[in-house]
Amino acid sequence: MKDADNPLILQVALASRLRQTFDYLAPAQGGPAAQPGMRALVPLGRRRVVGFVMGLAADSALPAARLKRAVELLDPDPLWDEATFGLLAWAAQYYHHPPGEVLSAAVPAAIREGAPASAEITMWQLSAAGIEGLADRPRLGQRQRELVERLRAGPAAAPELTTLGLGDALRGLARRGWLESFGAAAPPPQAGSGSRAAPVPTDAQRQACGAIAESLGGYAAWLLHGVTGSGKTEVYLSLIERVLAAGRSALVMVPEIALTPQLVSRFRDRLAVPVVTLHSSMTDTERLAAWRAARAGTAPVVIGTRSAVFTPLADPGILIVDEEHDPSYKQQEGFRYSARDLAVVRAQRHGIPVVLGSATPSLESLANVAAGRYRRLELPERTGRAGKPRIGVIDLRHHAARDGLAQPVLAAIERHLAARGQVLVYLNRRGYAPTLYCTGCGWIAPCPSCDARLTVHMRNARLVCHHCGTDEPMPFGCPKCGSEVRPVGQGTERVEQALLEVFPGVELVRVDRDVIRRRGDIERALEKVASGKARILLGTQMLTKGHDYPDVTLVAILNADQGLFGADFRASERLAQQIVQVSGRAGRGERPGEVLIQSAFPENPLLVSLVTEGYDGFARRALEERQAAGWPPYSRLALLRADGPDRGEVFDFLRAARDLAADIAQGVRVLGPAAAAMERRAARYRAQLLLESASRGPLQRLLEAWLPRIEATKPSRRIRWSVDVDPIEVD
Ligand code: ADP
Ligand code: ZN
Ligand code: ZN
Repeated sequence: MKDADNPLILQVALASRLRQTFDYLAPAQGGPAAQPGMRALVPLGRRRVVGFVMGLAADSALPAARLKRAVELLDPDPLWDEATFGLLAWAAQYYHHPPGEVLSAAVPAAIREGAPASAEITMWQLSAAGIEGLADRPRLGQRQRELVERLRAGPAAAPELTTLGLGDALRGLARRGWLESFGAAAPPPQAGSGSRAAPVPTDAQRQACGAIAESLGGYAAWLLHGVTGSGKTEVYLSLIERVLAAGRSALVMVPEIALTPQLVSRFRDRLAVPVVTLHSSMTDTERLAAWRAARAGTAPVVIGTRSAVFTPLADPGILIVDEEHDPSYKQQEGFRYSARDLAVVRAQRHGIPVVLGSATPSLESLANVAAGRYRRLELPERTGRAGKPRIGVIDLRHHAARDGLAQPVLAAIERHLAARGQVLVYLNRRGYAPTLYCTGCGWIAPCPSCDARLTVHMRNARLVCHHCGTDEPMPFGCPKCGSEVRPVGQGTERVEQALLEVFPGVELVRVDRDVIRRRGDIERALEKVASGKARILLGTQMLTKGHDYPDVTLVAILNADQGLFGADFRASERLAQQIVQVSGRAGRGERPGEVLIQSAFPENPLLVSLVTEGYDGFARRALEERQAAGWPPYSRLALLRADGPDRGEVFDFLRAARDLAADIAQGVRVLGPAAAAMERRAARYRAQLLLESASRGPLQRLLEAWLPRIEATKPSRRIRWSVDVDPIEVD
């Protein structure tokens, strides 16, 4: 209640780098009572900006005279329900990110700018003056007569009239005062057909659904472990049907690239309710419409990528995270959150189940199962499948490779092609070659701005840096000595050329970021594979997501060592997931699959356990290694990253920061400063402090006390610094 003696203070988060809220007096009079989660229009300097009310207070630390008054509240009620708003506030704290930026990241651009949270459309009808005027039988144009006829049947929505070509007539009659407009709730998005019946569930699906369905109505975290094609999506669909039947809504999260039109139509074909999507390639208008429909509950099913975890939902009943291991759930810049982890926290706050699905669960989730925090359900291999594929390792020390393809791999490709199979060749490196080398003096083409080599792209004869985008013409000779230069190593472009030479007349489809640029490109490319026209499919990790290749009988993985010896402690987990994902998408039924992995280190224990025991065996061993080394999930990490144009300045900043932690780092090891694996990138030097703790508490307490201290030192503006809690890359 507002009261002259006890003015209500709004604690407002503004989109700013400051880790604090700003106090404003509640708006003068009228309007809704303030509540956390509403937007407020507030003065800031000479501007007026949109902020989010985080909290309310009776008084402020600021003297009353310095408090400014908010102009108005923009929402009649909070944008989010309590649980979701609580999640956002919690996330700002947990990730130590400014609340204003967190809330801004959670809404569509138009909402940040002050657009109404509820969708309204403008309706037109005849005004009293219009009815009177028409009684005199005035002369009207053809379009005007059509418009009047339409409006005599009842009010019409503005977009409908525009579509009918009546826009000009509308403006003309409105100017005369014969029409009047009013706002009305927007109609719900179009419902799915729900025309496709569910298949009879397998026993495993029935069990999984039964177990999860029993947990509806309370918090529970489920890990649904099943290979691609084992029927996980069917389990999601049948759970969503139950949730909808109870009048509640559902959120399905998928990795960016997996959100294909096919996936969405599968949901719409099964569910006779509006299904909306939220992803990065939608326009602002589309996002706004989907967000409003989700919030209003007119679309009770939302399928979205990372940031969809913040979507307001009307009475959610279940959250689903498909491919939960996918690194794209972690935002890698700005507000660095894990959408997978936040989905679990959100489910807890709503008191509903969360289902994490994957063929290759993250080691974190497997550790959570072991600790009893998640419950695991398994779907066995797809039915009708002729057993697991045979996996073999080709020892590159004993077999010379030609353009990256060892002889036994070439022989296997030939064999499978002759048997009318399709072949998938996986190489997680695009371009022609990763290095351009001088045969005379040993010069290697460097990126001028990074500690990296330029990648040769032969098609347009360019040298490109895959880290900063530097792009220059390829030199004809060595710039140092003039001798011949030669591309060394392989990328997909070179392997494509080699395969076309060895297998002339065999159609090949390449899938990587150089050839797949727009939405729909990948579908078009893969259509050639699906139709059987293309026989060889070659590509990067783009191949591991969202698509199946049922007629592929051979999978060749050309460079496993890149993952086994990556600088990051998660490199081997990623590699194993990619191998299993890419292999799991190949083959079906009658044709047994074969997987060949090229490696110069075939006795690497992780590779051996993956080959002999599959993903579970790999995961067990990898978890043992993590435990022995004290890495997550057996410890908690955070990074303080910094970069700047001057190396000494970056290190000085980090050393000073480390010293500021000295007396408050109980239970936390502060390591570094250490240069990043690629120290110079885009002409900036990069380094970091690594914070490591056995559990969350001490790490959180340190960050809480430490970051304000760092801020207070007012570091040079040339230094950019940021905190990453639970980083997924530490190199
Ligand atoms: P996943 O999500 O694990 O990749 P899907 O749910 O997409 O698996 O199932 C793979 C394929 O098998 C789909 O074409 C799906 O329609 C079909 N399918 C799933 N469950 C069944 C079932 N119980 N009976 C028949 N077909 C099924
Ligand atoms: Zn040279
Ligand atoms: Zn570069």
